[in-house]
Amino acid sequence: MIGEAAARFQLIVGVHDLADPADARDDELQSWMPFGEVAPVLERILDNTRATGTILHITSDDGFRSDHEVLLPWLIERGVGGTFFIPTRFIGRPGRLGVGEIREIAAHGLRIGVHGARHIAWTAVPEHEFLEDVREGRDRLEQTIGAAVDLVAPPFGRFDGRILAHLFDMGFREIHTCRPGRAPAGEPLRPRNMLKRGQIEAVLATSLRPGGLRDVMRCRLRRLRETMWLRSRAA
Ligand SMILES: [Zn+2]
Repeated sequence: MIGEAAARFQLIVGVHDLADPADARDDELQSWMPFGEVAPVLERILDNTRATGTILHITSDDGFRSDHEVLLPWLIERGVGGTFFIPTRFIGRPGRLGVGEIREIAAHGLRIGVHGARHIAWTAVPEHEFLEDVREGRDRLEQTIGAAVDLVAPPFGRFDGRILAHLFDMGFREIHTCRPGRAPAGEPLRPRNMLKRGQIEAVLATSLRPGGLRDVMRCRLRRLRETMWLRSRAA
């Protein structure tokens, strides 16, 4: 029973910089949490998902070096899956992942995903700039790990029907959002529960509920809503 449910739903939890002191700067500090605070919360979430028969998956955005230093060992020790969304122009900067660390993460079977090159909001720039940012980010990651990359998280969780259509055309099979909920198997839009201060209780509460039809409908409705937006613009 649990096995069947586990195959149907994932709980995806999103983190950012986990270093102490922070490597994050300015606005990035809003999503920074030191690993000492995050680790006990992740343990509770893992227990809850195991009890409800949901698969826990952790994502980390923006390519901070804490991905490699603290999150990677935690995931490996517990056998938890993870995806790292890395803006490629950040690679090698102080406090960020280098090429060797990204390769090591990928070599452990963890997933690497596109988060653009420059970490810009794709909804706020002309279409050719958005396309260029995705292509540059994807090419650099594929060269770095020597494998195809078909996972993407739009920076700041900002996308619309036009962006969604382009990402599907480019062959991305998972698009990670910043809206909470459980991710049903086979749904390309993947809701993420972002773990930051002020959201911890909400994420814990979500981790206690098993996935259901509501989660499936919510994902499909969002895709439908964005598609209809696209049609209304084209009309
Ligand atoms: Zn980001």
